[in-house]
Amino acid sequence: MKYLLELALHFAANINCEKGGCLECRTCRNTLKAKYPNLYILEPVGNSIVVGEIDDLIYRMSISSINNEFKIAIIREAELMSGSGGITFNKMLKTLEDPPDEKCIFILLVEDIDAIIPTVRSRCQAYNWIFKGSAFGNYDERFRSIENELESHLKVLMSDRKNISEALYFSRTISSFIPEIGADIIKKQKKEIEKIKKSGLDKDEIDRIVKKTEDRNDREIKKLTSLIIKHVFDIIAACLEDIIAVIAGGKREALHYTDNYNIISESYKGGSINKYLELLGTIRENKIYASQGINYEIALDRVILGLVQS
Ligand SMILES: [Zn+2]
Repeated sequence: MKYLLELALHFAANINCEKGGCLECRTCRNTLKAKYPNLYILEPVGNSIVVGEIDDLIYRMSISSINNEFKIAIIREAELMSGSGGITFNKMLKTLEDPPDEKCIFILLVEDIDAIIPTVRSRCQAYNWIFKGSAFGNYDERFRSIENELESHLKVLMSDRKNISEALYFSRTISSFIPEIGADIIKKQKKEIEKIKKSGLDKDEIDRIVKKTEDRNDREIKKLTSLIIKHVFDIIAACLEDIIAVIAGGKREALHYTDNYNIISESYKGGSINKYLELLGTIRENKIYASQGINYEIALDRVILGLVQS
């Protein structure tokens, strides 16, 4: 995500600029261009950040800084450290706990903070930035339609709670959203690759760029998948909270989906709040798993069945 990098570069300029980030001096200008000796950017190329890349970063950060400034390492798509069986994350963790010297600053960029293991997260200062509409990038429209479909399906399920097979069918529909998004990305990728092949570069260079494009798109599919799943879980959680609110005697205005008030009042009256609290807990746990690319389907089935069964 280019906004995140821009933000990190401004932050880096602010740290080393004598005037606190004037954006005009040489330090600022070169930092913003990402060409500065005390700045190191780790740009992932494959599907994970491999141990060698982290070793290289740590080595560079151990060299003494120029002009006694801060040495700033920016790791893009930091969630990719989850590869290599966790070795990369562990190396990062050790480095954060015991950096090469006191002039080191590590900036980890990530779109989904849950994708960073808690031990690493706990050693970082987290800043949250919401870029309007940027989380789903070019897929906003598709996300909107998934959202609408999901909300109307949930409405039907909540009004007809005996329909277990419909509930399971619905759970499968959600899984089918993901290949759809993947298909979009692959279509885009085909076009990019055709362009590269026509570029007239030599074969090795073309192969290298094609591989890089494929890897980047794989990463995008993975990231979008976990964003969709998290979003789906968020919408279902909102419905569960609405059910709890109505059972507890809450008013229509208190609901996320005020339109569902009558449906919930009729369908869920006299139900047990505990059961729905439990389902909320299941969602909370599984949202984190989804970020780490772990299977979510079973949890989804469980939550949706829980929603309809009495
Ligand atoms: Zn400056």
